[in-house]
Amino acid sequence: MNACVDLPRSLLRPGAGARPGRVYLVGAGPGDPDLLTLRAARLLAQAEVVVLDQLVSAEVQALIAPRAQVIDAGKQRQRHTMEQDEINALLVRLARQGRQVVRLKGGDPFVFGRGGEEAQALAEAGIEFEVVPGITAACGVSAYAGIPLTHRDHAQSCSFVTGHVKEGGPEPDWAALAQPQQTLVIYMGLAALPRICTQLAAHGLSPETPAAVVQQGTTAAQRVVTGTLADLAARVQAAGLRSPCLTIVGEVVRLREQLAWFEPAPVLSAACA
Ligand code: SAH
Repeated sequence: MNACVDLPRSLLRPGAGARPGRVYLVGAGPGDPDLLTLRAARLLAQAEVVVLDQLVSAEVQALIAPRAQVIDAGKQRQRHTMEQDEINALLVRLARQGRQVVRLKGGDPFVFGRGGEEAQALAEAGIEFEVVPGITAACGVSAYAGIPLTHRDHAQSCSFVTGHVKEGGPEPDWAALAQPQQTLVIYMGLAALPRICTQLAAHGLSPETPAAVVQQGTTAAQRVVTGTLADLAARVQAAGLRSPCLTIVGEVVRLREQLAWFEPAPVLSAACA
């Protein structure tokens, strides 16, 4: 018998049925369900099993097929409900059962979303996967806050950085971040906001540089607090903003005065929106 006969791939997978499992790493965007891609909306409508990220808005979750099994793998700072290794193992296990798995992640899966790590785990396990990009918070939130990330008069470049620096871990390159004519978008930076503002000013940005923090951008609960590097942290604390928040630093923040267009539905505590 010819040993090189090609077996169907499904037969080569341990535990797989006739149909091979597949994982879709899907970006859910920043919150407003209208910002989903058509591909994401279609996959949600047909989903068999959805593994959820903590950041996926209720309005997006409402678009998941009612028959789908939903597994919440949400994570919060210092309150991990499932470790990343467990999530990777879960995705592999579900796919090996021959299931079509939607791994739904806030924003874009490949921007601070650990989508890269999940894709690596799937590739190493020989599981087929697909990546569906989403609107990352920087793009969605800045648009709904009326803050263009670049502008010919104010910013020729834009950096997306994480503000979640590990205790005792390597420091960000503050000097590189503190450049004029550049917009900084800081993800996960709420807890470290006072330090971030102080360090940027210490490394050369004017303390008067405009900056904003946007809570739950693109949703009815969007709140925006603006200020300068010198006073933003105190204003944000006084306003009681809560995660998820995105920080934007740079001259472009001033344009919000003219360009703010999105009026979230009034909420009781919106005193400083
Ligand atoms: N993959 C996601 C980012 C995950 S990291 C993306 O591409 O957007 C989580 C951080 O994203 C939060 O701490 C916050 O900084 C930011 N974020 C995500 N959604 C947000 C929203 N609707 N409003 C403000 N910040 C948001």
